[in-house]
Amino acid sequence: MSTSTYQDRRARVVAHIGAHAIALLPTAPEQRRNRDADFPYRYDSYFHYLCGFAEPGAWLAITGAGKTILFCQPKDMEREIWDGYRLGPQAAPAALGVDEAYPITEMDARIPSLLDGCDALWYPFATHAGLDAQMQQWLQPLRDRVRFGTLCPSTQRDLCTVLDEMRLVKDAQEQDIMRRAGQISAGAHIRAMQTSARRLRAGQEVREYHLEAELLHEFREQGAQSPAYTSIVAAGANACVLHYRADTAPVRAGELVLIDAGCELDGYASDITRTFPADGRFTGPQRALYDVVLAAQQAAVDATRAGARFTDPHDASVAVLSQGMLDLGLLDKDKVGTLQDVIDKRAYFQFYMHRTGHWLGRDVHDCGSYTEPSEIGQSSTRVDALSGQTVVNRPARILQPGMVLTIEPGIYVRPAPGVPEKFHHIGIRIEDDAIVTAHACELISRGVPVEPDAIEALMRA
Ligand code: CA
Repeated sequence: MSTSTYQDRRARVVAHIGAHAIALLPTAPEQRRNRDADFPYRYDSYFHYLCGFAEPGAWLAITGAGKTILFCQPKDMEREIWDGYRLGPQAAPAALGVDEAYPITEMDARIPSLLDGCDALWYPFATHAGLDAQMQQWLQPLRDRVRFGTLCPSTQRDLCTVLDEMRLVKDAQEQDIMRRAGQISAGAHIRAMQTSARRLRAGQEVREYHLEAELLHEFREQGAQSPAYTSIVAAGANACVLHYRADTAPVRAGELVLIDAGCELDGYASDITRTFPADGRFTGPQRALYDVVLAAQQAAVDATRAGARFTDPHDASVAVLSQGMLDLGLLDKDKVGTLQDVIDKRAYFQFYMHRTGHWLGRDVHDCGSYTEPSEIGQSSTRVDALSGQTVVNRPARILQPGMVLTIEPGIYVRPAPGVPEKFHHIGIRIEDDAIVTAHACELISRGVPVEPDAIEALMRA
């Protein structure tokens, strides 16, 4: 992205916080993995959204007067030999389009005078440990010098409230990156499907980690920096464990494999789930359940457009899933009643216990309020039929063009009295990524098919 994109974003922050305020935000700290080895470094999503700078050890200060100051690691030949190139404060203004840059070691000396005279201090609440204490530490010198005329900000405000709203609607450049991330991830799913079928046909062993290896290979082969989250590769009954990872379980012909995996490309996540027969042929009961989940997903896709509520796709999915559970005998009509009863009493929850989507962007569960800001005061309470607990209902977010969300219904059948045995241990989820448009949505992850016939065909190839 060009430096002007980041400058425009910072200008929007300035317009929001006002001329007499200042915003401070750090990038993410480096994280120790074990002993002296670190986790691969990942910058903070908010910080990177505002300047595109990927090094650790950096802060941004954005003043109400519209000036951006970057604090970053100073040039250091010896450290750079060991840890890699540093941009350094001298080169930063030209490279990043910031107004000024200083070594991070000068923050304690420079920040208090930037705060002096501001009416409000904005920083991201509840994001990085120790941030509140850091702010107090920078305010202290001002407090100590009020006798000499310093002015301490009287208000501290959450910068996330500004940045969350900005990040929720993706611009054209962001959408393009997310389309490409969706393509790469789709290719990775195809690779895993085909590898599973090919190895089983050849009489070779297949384990979950073999398929995870195919995903990782394709992500990196296509230039994605990493997975956006830990991949789920769940063979057979493992698919009914919602947050399963990828372990050593054997992948067997006749069973399904559920893969929930997506790459991160240039700071943006993709998030795809496909469920496929390990050897490329659905059995009758697998196909029957799959068709219900696919119809539920299509109903949710049809309900995703500007002007709809965030909860509309979920409600559409639940209606189709619930009808399917009645039709297939997962739920007993004589016990649970009509379709409306299943929905009202949340009887479907036995087999479908998560929501149908979440925001997607720089973070896989991206920031952004799920409540409509213009209706925030209109909450009501109700007693949940299943748990008996009182829950607060707030008006769900109204979708706008450029918002990106996942659409991911599923069915997970654990053995229980009255549940037909042919469905036991089958877990199915189908997940795609959707950009909201004026009258519909654009699915950016359909490079890997969802139709069962199409999946079988590509696994034969
Ligand atoms: Ca997912």
